[in-house]
Amino acid sequence: EEIRVYEFAEKINKPVSEVIKELFSLGVMFTKNDFLDKDSIEILAETFGINVTTVNDQEAFDYVKAYDDEGEASDQILVERAPVITIMGHVDHGKTSLLDYIRSAKVAAGEAGGITQHVGAYMVEKNGRNITFIDTPGHEAFTEMRSRGAKVTDIVIVVVAADDGVKPQTKEAIEHAKAANVPIIIAVNKMDKEAANPDLVKAQLAELGITPVDWGGEHEFVPVSAKTGMGIEDLLETILLQADLLELKADPSREVKATVIESSLEKGRGPVATVVVEDGTMRVGDIVVAGVAFGKVKALLDDLGRSVKEALPGEPVVVLGLSEVPGAGDTLISVKTDKIAREYAKKKAEYLRQKELSKTTKVSLDDLSAMIAEGALKTLPVIIKADVQGSLEAIKGSLEKIRNSETKVNIVSAGIGGITESDVAIASASSDCIILGFHVRPTGVVKEKAKSAGVEIKTYNIIYDLIDDVTNIVTGLMAPVI
Ligand code: GDP
Repeated sequence: EEIRVYEFAEKINKPVSEVIKELFSLGVMFTKNDFLDKDSIEILAETFGINVTTVNDQEAFDYVKAYDDEGEASDQILVERAPVITIMGHVDHGKTSLLDYIRSAKVAAGEAGGITQHVGAYMVEKNGRNITFIDTPGHEAFTEMRSRGAKVTDIVIVVVAADDGVKPQTKEAIEHAKAANVPIIIAVNKMDKEAANPDLVKAQLAELGITPVDWGGEHEFVPVSAKTGMGIEDLLETILLQADLLELKADPSREVKATVIESSLEKGRGPVATVVVEDGTMRVGDIVVAGVAFGKVKALLDDLGRSVKEALPGEPVVVLGLSEVPGAGDTLISVKTDKIAREYAKKKAEYLRQKELSKTTKVSLDDLSAMIAEGALKTLPVIIKADVQGSLEAIKGSLEKIRNSETKVNIVSAGIGGITESDVAIASASSDCIILGFHVRPTGVVKEKAKSAGVEIKTYNIIYDLIDDVTNIVTGLMAPVI
């Protein structure tokens, strides 16, 4: 995690468009969500005449590394790592059942600790290879982590009940996965049921651009039953095939880098965090930092609660010995000394405090038009919500036509109904995305969420006004509103 352009602008209290303009005049193109490199930060600091002590993750990480890597040869030894899977889908379509079935089917009866523990992630074996499942079904965890920059998931499984078909949260799940650019496998669940109609599921999803392989598309549809266990082995095999295509590699010989999946304060054990190792090997005795937490790893536990000495890339592991409870999505790294660990954690705390203090709108319409005018933004991502299908289609049609030679409108998602928290989550996870409402409004709660996520919501009662605004943004002509 490095510093993004808009975060930098927030910090120095300047409009983001000014920062982008400055960078542009230096001959470098940045959009507000791009990460700044060190040189640019220094040049900007000079231009704006301020003293910047960058305290973001990557900076601190580099700083830590500078100490850490001294005298060490760094020949990379890349080996295959376990794929990390997240299961999403509509409520009651069987996410939990599927996760439970896979876990219990794959754990030999009588193994220590039983299989009742929930630590946020678990690993199973198939054909001598490992697969890690994130054990917190639902979209929130996925988008929350992603909006924090954590990319833990390699493949998303979208569960669709064969007797119920595509539902609103199915669509959401697909949108989340698409926005994150993560491959999707469809598990057509509840195949044991009389009313199961997998062809209807296929047809409905094909309409959303998720076309089955056997219909000439690119997506694997695996019929399963979380009740009888039918198709589960096929599903695991499909995951491995997809993982092969992704060529997931990591270097177990280096220091650990992991992502916190879940954390809690437990009586008698203190702060406990479940992490998934991204790179390197995690070992007992490692000195680590994770967000504002640091410490020497006292013990590592696997997903069955058994004590282990180490965890390899792609593997989930429970970490004991941290000073505090880190946040989900925090990066954990190992460092050489306790001093460095403390320093890092302190910097992170300082960074978070600053960020909290200088929370400003993530994106505003005049920022966007300035960015487009400067050629810094190539597409304008929008989410459209409307009251009726007819209006939605009309708006979609008109927006698709709006483009100038450089810029076009990218419809991230479009749907009927009010503006929801999920829309805000999707918008905040995509760069510079705005939400356009037609005859629909966000509730107070959603407004609050949007505000704190820095997402702009614009609502309209006249289609022409909506089109006009977007056209103005895209042509970069909108007069700045002060
Ligand atoms: P979630 O909300 O997506 O996590 O769904 P659950 O896993 O809680 O499942 C919802 C309901 O569907 C529960 O009553 C499950 O027992 C049932 N269910 C889940 N999978 C299957 C299946 O493959 N076949 C049948 N018959 N029922 C299932």
